[in-house]
Amino acid sequence: MPDEMQRALIQRGGETGGCRPLGACMSELDTQVVGILGTGDFSRSLARRLVASGYQVVVGSRTPKRSVALFPEEAEVTSQLEAASQADIVFVAIFPEHHSTLLELKPALAGKILVDVSNGLQIKQGGPSYAEQLAGMFPESFIVKGFNTISAWVLQTGPRDGSRQVFLCSDSSKAKSSVLAMCHRMGFRPVDMGLLSSSVEIENLPFYLFPSWGTPILVSAILFIFFYLYNFVRDVLHPFVMAKKSVFYKMPIETVNVTLPSVALVMLALVYMPGLLAALLQLRRGTKYDRFPDWLAKWLVKRKQFGLCSFLCAAMHAIYSLCLPMRQSARFKLLNAAFKQVKEGVEDSWSDEGVWRMELYVSVGIIALGLLSLLAITSLPSVADNINWREFNFVQSTLGYCALSMATVHTLLFGWDRAFDPGQYRFLLPPTFLVVLILPVTVLMVRLIFLLPCIADQLRKIRRGWEKSRHIRFVLPSDNCYNGIDNISHV
Ligand code: NAP
Repeated sequence: MPDEMQRALIQRGGETGGCRPLGACMSELDTQVVGILGTGDFSRSLARRLVASGYQVVVGSRTPKRSVALFPEEAEVTSQLEAASQADIVFVAIFPEHHSTLLELKPALAGKILVDVSNGLQIKQGGPSYAEQLAGMFPESFIVKGFNTISAWVLQTGPRDGSRQVFLCSDSSKAKSSVLAMCHRMGFRPVDMGLLSSSVEIENLPFYLFPSWGTPILVSAILFIFFYLYNFVRDVLHPFVMAKKSVFYKMPIETVNVTLPSVALVMLALVYMPGLLAALLQLRRGTKYDRFPDWLAKWLVKRKQFGLCSFLCAAMHAIYSLCLPMRQSARFKLLNAAFKQVKEGVEDSWSDEGVWRMELYVSVGIIALGLLSLLAITSLPSVADNINWREFNFVQSTLGYCALSMATVHTLLFGWDRAFDPGQYRFLLPPTFLVVLILPVTVLMVRLIFLLPCIADQLRKIRRGWEKSRHIRFVLPSDNCYNGIDNISHV
């Protein structure tokens, strides 16, 4: 037992599975010489960062005399061969097209760690990656892929002004551990991506442009165009065609302001819809072990992005609404209404119903936006990291449904009794709020049905592993307590 107590909690496994005390690792780090081949932008920034992190740096160049002035004094700039011979770890900071020019350094690089930082020109669908090609050229060296997602700028300014994540992979766990420790010391956050076969993925990372946002943004854009045109036809085109009344001034603000909440509410319903569809599928199949169809699986993982798009539209709707009274058109309308009232001899235009409707409408809207903001904040990785699964689930699921309900009530209050007014069916098109409400109301109704004990119990059983086709006696824990994991399917 005393031996156990003395052992380090986190042990660094070498390639042979052996472990060394942390002190030994640190002293080894202090004496490590880091080589960089190439004297370009990346090399210069890396040299600065390494020197600032206390490393001894030796830079290898084809023309050392020409490049020496570009590097910090503490770094030695010498020939490629000299740098390769002196260094324990060598960063290959040259373009992959020129990797083959390093072949003459093979004997000097044998047994050393080579860090390939190269990026390609476009996304690669399959291997071999540049790192794997380098490994083929230098079979006696240990290749580590990494640092390619860090720009020369971030290296120079330090990790506080850009991404801190450094993705690393290698077939040699010892080599990877050394580079991992180096990353930490330079202030970056290493992410172990496993074997060198992951290098294709790592090399593709800099080319991705918000990969999980494509569908949510596309859906938002389609919904926006649809509702904008719908509102334009009803509110702008209809008066022009039927009464020759030009209200085209409504297009930049009023029409946009009716479109934004429509998109926000439908997008919010689309956040909760895939969960309900998944639950329906599980109920129908009587098991949770069958895979969801591809489209549903993809939809489920993009719920956060759908929610954030909804939040953006709702926030913009709030800002637009606050700006409505500032417009010239609003002032003219108000004045005209007042003059008309005076002309008609009306003394008091106060309407209790109108006032109550507006008070409730605004209040519920603010609550919905507040709840949505909470959902958006908790979806930030730094916040989500600090709450447990149950808390996250409570905010995203319970408060999320509250936000959806509030936004639905807000829309219902906006509509009030207009659904029963035949004048609202311009060009036979129902009022926008009625179209918007279809999806959220359906989602809320289905959710309510899922709360019925007979269905809720069946779902809980399925999520705890019960299967219709296997006739195993299955008893749910009677304490009726949720530990959060019960709800792991989060559907
Ligand atoms: P660069 O400014 O063009 O520098 C490339 C260096 O490669 C040259 O300065 C040259 O140094 C050296 N080199 C060695 N053999 C060569 C040859 N046969 N032909 C031409 N040059 C040769 O490029 P860089 O921006 O530093 O990028 C270097 C590597 O880092 C690339 O693989 C790139 O994908 C990767 N990277 C760069 C960044 C970035 O922000 N710049 C970010 C991530 C990854 P000598 O003449 O002194 O030998």
